Amino acid sequence: MHTSLMEITARPATVFVKGSGAWLYDSDGKAYLDFIQGWAVNCLGHSPDPLVAAITEQAGKLINPSPAFYNQPMLDLAAALTAGAGLERIFFANSGAEANEGAIKLARKWGSLHRDGAYEIITMAQGFHGRTLATMAASGKDGWDQLFEPKVPGFPKVPFSDLAAVEAAINGNTAAVMLEPVQGEAGVIDGSDDYLLGLRALTEAHGILLIADEIQTGMGRTGKMFACAHTGITPDIMTLGKGLGGGVPLAALLAREDVCCFEHGDQGGTFNGNPLMTAAGLAVWKELSKPGFLEDVVTAGEHLTKGLETFSANHGFGAVRGRGLLRALDLKEAIAGDIAARAMEAGLLLNAPRPDSLRFMPALNVSHEEIGQMLGILDRVVD
Ligand SMILES: *Cc1c(COP(=O)(O)O)cnc(C)c1O
Repeated sequence: MHTSLMEITARPATVFVKGSGAWLYDSDGKAYLDFIQGWAVNCLGHSPDPLVAAITEQAGKLINPSPAFYNQPMLDLAAALTAGAGLERIFFANSGAEANEGAIKLARKWGSLHRDGAYEIITMAQGFHGRTLATMAASGKDGWDQLFEPKVPGFPKVPFSDLAAVEAAINGNTAAVMLEPVQGEAGVIDGSDDYLLGLRALTEAHGILLIADEIQTGMGRTGKMFACAHTGITPDIMTLGKGLGGGVPLAALLAREDVCCFEHGDQGGTFNGNPLMTAAGLAVWKELSKPGFLEDVVTAGEHLTKGLETFSANHGFGAVRGRGLLRALDLKEAIAGDIAARAMEAGLLLNAPRPDSLRFMPALNVSHEEIGQMLGILDRVVD
């Protein structure tokens, strides 16, 4: 299909026109069971009532007074998220990459003030932090090491889940360690609880910052509001995105009070913290905070995992990885892209983050019946 859009990815010719809950509909009226959900973004499914109501009401009231003025949804969401995360300060952004870019700036400024000009941020092989120049340099995605030279310097890489490698990489220039608690784009690779606890202790012992990129793992995705909560650690800086706005562009950078060294003019953005997006975020927060919501995510995640394990055993595939409703299935062969393409023909949307892995990131309120339907379609496709 020829369009005037820049070719940044291979898109199927389908045009989507409508979404409702777990389902997406194209311009021919064909229905798709959606286990991509805008890339783990629509945490309440497509066009959920509370989100539509919040956006509609706010749009009629106030859309953007300017980022230089307070607005009520911005204040309310800031209070809710900082209390929930156990971090005192928040800056709203429009994308995960922008939130991470802010985290990098904050860590560098902190290093310049409190650690003798230290600016290096140790990041992880295969990690993913976004597509700006600095966040691409912070990422360890295969094939990115030669792109858009020269790179933003200062991001030494270590293998994921290797505490000794982090310790060996720390030197006088180190300001922070940055990682995803579960590496999403790498194919849902879970850092163990011991690894996270070890990183928290190590960074504290060396007086450097721990930055948790919870853009994919945050907002209930792993069965806790934030993945760090599985171990009870609090990072010094945390970033959120994806599920935070339930589908609209909203991200956030959170930090401990004494780490917040931005001065006027250091950070900002025209659309940042606008009431239309923060009202959406507030609606999402309220739903995720309802009693039982996160427990249901855990149950649904277990149900999905059991189903996938049975499916895998029947077809001779490998293990299921991940936590909560962020899961991947190891296919042991490079057939994931092919399966995802055939699944789409059969009315099921799945993502293949690696040639040998399928990723499952349904809405957090996905029903057990919908999980069963997904497994049924997948079974037929693989047969
Ligand atoms: C998606 C993602 C990002 C980038 O977010 P954008 O909104 O696409 O800029 C950064 N970090 C992680 C862990 C992500 O999953």
